[in-house]
Amino acid sequence: MTDEQINLYDLDLPGLTELVAGWGEPAYRARQIYRHLYVQNVVDFEAMTTLSKALREKLRRDCCIGNLEPVRLQQGDAGFTRKALWKLPQGETIESVLMIYPGRATVCVSSQAGCPMGCVFCATAKLGFLRDLTAGQIVEQVLWAARETKAVAEGEGVDALANGAGVVAPEERPSRLSNVVFMGMGEAFNNYDAWWDSVERLHDPDGFNMGARSFTVSTVGLVPGIRRLAKESLPVNLAISLHAPDDELRSALMPVNKAYPIQELLQATREYAEETHRRVSFEYVLLQEKNDAMEHAHALVRLLRDGPLGDRIQWTHVNLIPWNPVPGTPLERSHRKRVEAFQSILRSGGIPCTTRMERGTEIDAACGQLAGQG
Ligand code: SF4
Repeated sequence: MTDEQINLYDLDLPGLTELVAGWGEPAYRARQIYRHLYVQNVVDFEAMTTLSKALREKLRRDCCIGNLEPVRLQQGDAGFTRKALWKLPQGETIESVLMIYPGRATVCVSSQAGCPMGCVFCATAKLGFLRDLTAGQIVEQVLWAARETKAVAEGEGVDALANGAGVVAPEERPSRLSNVVFMGMGEAFNNYDAWWDSVERLHDPDGFNMGARSFTVSTVGLVPGIRRLAKESLPVNLAISLHAPDDELRSALMPVNKAYPIQELLQATREYAEETHRRVSFEYVLLQEKNDAMEHAHALVRLLRDGPLGDRIQWTHVNLIPWNPVPGTPLERSHRKRVEAFQSILRSGGIPCTTRMERGTEIDAACGQLAGQG
């Protein structure tokens, strides 16, 4: 790969058609290449066997299939959680995490290298903002995950003798990637255009063909992004990182709250739910004695029941996430009993609520642990 080469993942079908037309090739050649990339998911021009040798040569010289350099692949949960560390052409690193469950496979991808949002509990925040990813670099992480999912289904790289919470029986292993969550490094709404291009590309029924509801974007609470998403044609899922029931605490944990305080955020969420008729999730990371006290749980119930979403409470869902350790952070994970008590208060208050299943903690691949260091 050289700097001058075109990353094919950065082109949509019209872009690809234009590229090959410039070489005097007909439009159907572009469709063939597109299918090789997104249906067959090939990573080598040699495998594009429907093309002439001369065209494959031209592609090899002028283009590349992705530009993320794999630095390290780590496995946890007996091979059913996989974390990839990638180097961007400019040298920064990013990460993606694939989690295989019975009947489904979810990949968590990065949308930026580093992140400017400064959430105090997050490993990525410590890097600051480094760079936006291109649409192609976001797409590339998903295509990697699709290949790995297939490999797991075929028994590659999994410990057949292991048993434990993360192990998936052969007959329950998904044959295809089922979900993409934009919850890795970065804030997708800060890189909206490239992120949305990646969603459209992966959704394209003539290509990768992933259902719109298979995508979930997580936002720190950027109100303009929520409003923009409400107008998009594809019904992707929205998750909002809430993490505190009042402005004082939320601003201390997440500086973005000073720009978009809770009531404004909930109002935008309500508008989003009304416009799209879609359910919205709230993420709430539990930090011992910071935001996990019983009064916080009661305050959260009041906030959701009495605030702008009050009469739409069945359209919401709270995901409780026991915090995963980040070195150098003076925070502690909530004890299990506190997590259970918190959840029970929310449920008694009529708030739909679950606690997220943990994966990948042993390889620092869990939520908030991605720091681009492998
Ligand atoms: S939690 Fe998300 S938005 Fe906040 S700093 Fe980390 S990556 Fe950025």
